[in-house]
Amino acid sequence: MSTIAASEALSSSASPALDALVTHLQEASLLASSNSLLDWDQETTMPAGGLEWRARQQALLARIVHERVSSLERRDLIEAVESDATAMADGSVAALVREARRDHEKATKLPTSLVEEMAKTSSMAKHEWALAREKSDFRRFAPWLEKLAGLLRAQADCYGFAEGGERWDALADLYEPGCTARSVSAVFDPLRPRLQRLVADLTASGVRPPSGFNDFAVAIPEQEALSRFVAERIGFDFNRGRLDRSTHPFCSGTHCNDVRLTTRYNERCVNDALGSTMHEAGHGIYEQGLPFARVGTPIGESVSLGIHESQSRMWENQVGRSRAFWAWLHRELPRIIGADSARFSLDELYGAANVVEPGFIRVESDEATYNLHIMVRFEIERAVIGGSLEVAGIPSAWNRLYKEYLGLEVPDDRRGCLQDIHWSMGAMGYFPTYTLGNLYASQFFEAACAEIPGLVEGFARGEFAPLKAWLNSNIHAHGRRFTPSELVERVTGKPLSAEPLMRHLEGKLRPLYGM
Ligand code: ZN
Repeated sequence: MSTIAASEALSSSASPALDALVTHLQEASLLASSNSLLDWDQETTMPAGGLEWRARQQALLARIVHERVSSLERRDLIEAVESDATAMADGSVAALVREARRDHEKATKLPTSLVEEMAKTSSMAKHEWALAREKSDFRRFAPWLEKLAGLLRAQADCYGFAEGGERWDALADLYEPGCTARSVSAVFDPLRPRLQRLVADLTASGVRPPSGFNDFAVAIPEQEALSRFVAERIGFDFNRGRLDRSTHPFCSGTHCNDVRLTTRYNERCVNDALGSTMHEAGHGIYEQGLPFARVGTPIGESVSLGIHESQSRMWENQVGRSRAFWAWLHRELPRIIGADSARFSLDELYGAANVVEPGFIRVESDEATYNLHIMVRFEIERAVIGGSLEVAGIPSAWNRLYKEYLGLEVPDDRRGCLQDIHWSMGAMGYFPTYTLGNLYASQFFEAACAEIPGLVEGFARGEFAPLKAWLNSNIHAHGRRFTPSELVERVTGKPLSAEPLMRHLEGKLRPLYGM
C-alpha cells in the first residue's frame, strides 16, 4: 500500500485540497523514509567501500526533500486547506495543517546553500571527530567544531527566536518545539543540587547493592535470545520490526509497520544489552504505536525528541530497573541464558541494575548521575552558541563542570569533551531532550500508575500489556497533534515538573543503599 486516501484517514468531510496536501506530504515522507533506510543499512550491513556513494545518495535525497518541503507548491496546498473551513473544523486536520505549516516555514528560512554547507561540514567533522577522539586530541577537532558553531549560529539567526530569548532557543526548537534555554534552566537549576545531594548520600552510606550480575559473562547468542524475548514481551511487534546489531544502538525504520532496532552485546555484561534493548524497544513501541492511517503526515509522527526519549527511558528505567520486573525475569533467566544464572538471587539482580557510581562516560552512567552529564553539555553548548565561550575553551570548561557537578577529575578529552558524537553532527540544542525525556517518563509513569491499579505488581507476572496500551492511547495515537507541553498537561493534568523524577529516584535508591 503506497498512499492512503486522505478522506479515509483524516476527515469525514473530505476535501480535494486536503487530499492534495496529504499526497504532497506523503511523497516527501516516502523519500525521507528511504533516506532513513539508507542510514540503517550503513550502520548495520553496508561494506566500508560504500561510504562515498552512500553520502551522495543521502545528500541528494535530503536536498530533494528540503526542496519539496520548502516549495511554493507546498505553501499553496497548505493555504488551500486553511481556507477550507469545513475541513479545518476537524481538529486533526487543523493540527495537521498547523504542523505542516511549521515544517514548511522552518524549511524556507534556511537557504539551500546553508543546508548543503552544514551537510558537507558535518560529514567531514564526524570523521575528524572520530580520529580526534581515538587520539584524545581536541586540538585536531577544534577547527571543525569552530566551523560548525559558526554555521549553527548562522542557522539560528535564520530561524530567529522570541524576544527575551537567545540563539540556542532557535536550535533547541528543532528537536523540542517550544523549548528555550530559560525554560531548561528553570528545571535544571533546582534539580542539580537535589541530584548531587542524592548521589553524595548514596556514596556516603557505606552500603552498596550487590553488583555481581554486572560481571556475569553470557555468550552472545544467549544474550540475543534474551534481548528478543524481553523486547517481545514488553510489546515490540516483530511482525512489524527487527532487531539487529550496531556499534551504537538506535531505533529507525521507514514507518510504523517497519521499525528497526539495534543493540550491542558485551560478552562480559548481559545487563548492557538488556538495558540498550529495552531502551530502543521503548522507542520502537512508540513508532509502532503511531497511527498507520496518518502515516506520512505530521500527525503520524512523533511529537519531539524529549517525548520519544520518555518512551525509551520508561521501559528502560521505570520498568527495566524495577524490582517487579526482576522478580519476573529472575524466573525466566535460567531457561534463556543458562542454569548458571540461577545462582543470583532476586536481590542481587535488582541491585546490579541499580548501582549508582559517578563516572566519566554519559552513555554508561546510572539513573541518578545521568542528568548531571546532560547539564554539563547544556551549559557548554549554550555558552558556545551564545558566544560567551570560545571553542578552544571547551575542554577546560568541561573539566571544571565535571569536577563541580560529579566530583570527578577528567583524565583526558577522550573521556571528556570528545566522548559524544552530537556536536560533530552539528546537533546543538539536542542534549537537554535526554533529561526532558527522563522528566516526562517519570511524570507519565506516575499518571499511568494512578490510572491502572496493580500496574507495577503485574510486571512481576510478566504483564506489560496494560502499560503499553495506556501509552498507545494516551501518547502514541496523537502523533504531533499536541505540543510536548500540551501533551504533558493533557496526560498528567500538570505542567512538567522535576518532582516525579526525584520521587522515583529517592524512593528506589535510598532504600537500596540502606537509607
Ligand atoms: Zn533514546
